[in-house]
Amino acid sequence: MKTTTQKLMELYNAMHRFFGPQAWWPGDGPLEVMIGAVLTQNTNWKNVERAIDNLRKKNLIDIEKLVQLDTNELAELIRPAGYFSVKAKRLKNLIHFIHENYGGDLQRFFELSVTQLREELLSVNGIGYETADDIILYAACKPAFVVDTYTYRIMLRHLLISQDDDYMAIKALFEDNLPADVELFNEYHALLVAVGKNYCKKTNPLCEKCPLNPYEHDPNLPEYL
Ligand code: SF4
Repeated sequence: MKTTTQKLMELYNAMHRFFGPQAWWPGDGPLEVMIGAVLTQNTNWKNVERAIDNLRKKNLIDIEKLVQLDTNELAELIRPAGYFSVKAKRLKNLIHFIHENYGGDLQRFFELSVTQLREELLSVNGIGYETADDIILYAACKPAFVVDTYTYRIMLRHLLISQDDDYMAIKALFEDNLPADVELFNEYHALLVAVGKNYCKKTNPLCEKCPLNPYEHDPNLPEYL
């Protein structure tokens, strides 16, 4: 009987063979990646890029400058990312937090352990589990597995989690059974997104063409995600 580690690695290897390396995260430098992580919620990456471009053009990828920037002005600049008022407040909260507690020194902040970093990020109003893990993995380059809707859907259909499992339980499935390897976590998440977007649709998953079809799954499991 296969262990969970073997099952997870089988899925990973099949996706990796099929799609090739995904080389996420798009972004230039840790601050920009962190900003992208806040802006990417409920929108696609193209919209995030347009918002980040607006900040770049004004030379605002800078903690000191973002601290000084008026929240409404920030909201206008990140408008392409959607929910711009809420996201502007979240971004300001995060930037202020780093400014006040770490002197605006992102590297100093990122020197914390994964557990401390996560606690600190989650203490910021508006930063949830997924955003915190995105920041830890892609900006701080530390091993935190990012869980999203695609992860939930694919793992559920592949019978590796149950319907009631929450974010932390799904995250533990990966973190407890895979080596704490930044590159592996980075690629694994990106590959799940590729399968989710292209094959594991909410309704009518395209199992026959999917690289994960040879592995045990039940495509008839819930379509509500
Ligand atoms: S599309 Fe089918 S084979 Fe592919 S991940 Fe979803 S359930 Fe698995």
